[in-house]
Amino acid sequence: MKVLVTGAAGHIGAEVVKKLTEADISVLGLDSFTDFYSVDMKVHRVQALGIKEFVRVGDITNTQLLEETFSEFKPTHVVNLAARAGVRSTWNQFHLYNHSNLVGFQTLLDISVKHGVDHFLFASSSSVYGEGQIPPYSENSELRIPKSYYALTKIANEIAARAASSVIKTTGMRFFTVYGPWGRPDMATLQFVAAGLLGRPATLTGDLSIKRDFTFVSDAAQVVIDLLGRDSGGSFEVLNVAGGRPQSLSDLIRILGEEGLEFGVKGGIHSLLDVPLTHGSTEKLSKFVPETPQVQINDGVRQVIAWAKSVDPKKLTSWVVPPGLK
Ligand code: NAD
Repeated sequence: MKVLVTGAAGHIGAEVVKKLTEADISVLGLDSFTDFYSVDMKVHRVQALGIKEFVRVGDITNTQLLEETFSEFKPTHVVNLAARAGVRSTWNQFHLYNHSNLVGFQTLLDISVKHGVDHFLFASSSSVYGEGQIPPYSENSELRIPKSYYALTKIANEIAARAASSVIKTTGMRFFTVYGPWGRPDMATLQFVAAGLLGRPATLTGDLSIKRDFTFVSDAAQVVIDLLGRDSGGSFEVLNVAGGRPQSLSDLIRILGEEGLEFGVKGGIHSLLDVPLTHGSTEKLSKFVPETPQVQINDGVRQVIAWAKSVDPKKLTSWVVPPGLK
């Protein structure tokens, strides 16, 4: 098996590459190091996780680069995690989502079809469920009108991958709020942990009652690895990758308090793009992998705190605190 992982300097991608190298599976990572959040953090992430030598700089919209990569590396499996992530500020930044999530996705999918890879796996998102679904969300449920442009691009990816599955096997992974050490600075867990450690208030988007189905990064990456060799199910499958136990932002603040992290919160801009609840059923996933995500939020949060404490506070500030507030 030879695995091409895109978005390899990202939060989930770096963990996937790390696990593949640890399992002695041949892997090549690609990432264009976008500035959606700190590029410096991405550079440090690949260094710290010991995967720098496996990650090449490259954009998945670059057909020539992909052709060269496929001819030289000859991947049998492709894991597409490269994307413009995040649901906020999306309708007016649609070109950024188009670039990576639509043009990039389709370019990589077409080349994967052309080269006849064994399996094309890709990141979809819990956001495809939109609002008003009955929890826990099942992969069979009919998708509603998406709340964000981001979700729209992920629905488009699922449709394109389903179409391609007449030629190659494809699997969409609907990730639910992945958090952990080296997590994304736009997400609540790292924002809150950094606020507690740096002694500054956290800015909230949405209200404290919104609930998220937190999924620990190493669990999420293990699911990706376990799905690579999927030989049951159809030629196209879409699967929830969820912890299965939603927690509200108040719960998260309480758990951090139990770990000794106190911080104030400032009511941020209420984001209409956030849904009040995400809660994925892992019943279908459990038929495809030996173990669904297991790490409990208290354990996961403890690992995030330990990691954040190991980072130089100046670095942490530069990665996490939005420009203008530093
Ligand atoms: P991330 O932003 O940390 O990682 C994405 C990586 O893709 C970044 O390093 C970025 O530089 C790279 N990238 C973006 N556009 C690219 C392009 N055109 N060419 C090459 N590289 C490009 O995000 P993440 O949290 O690791 O998410 C990984 C995937 O999972 C994304 O597709 C995201 O939409 C999806 N997802 C994540 C979550 C979550 O909670 N983290 C939830 C649902 C879905």
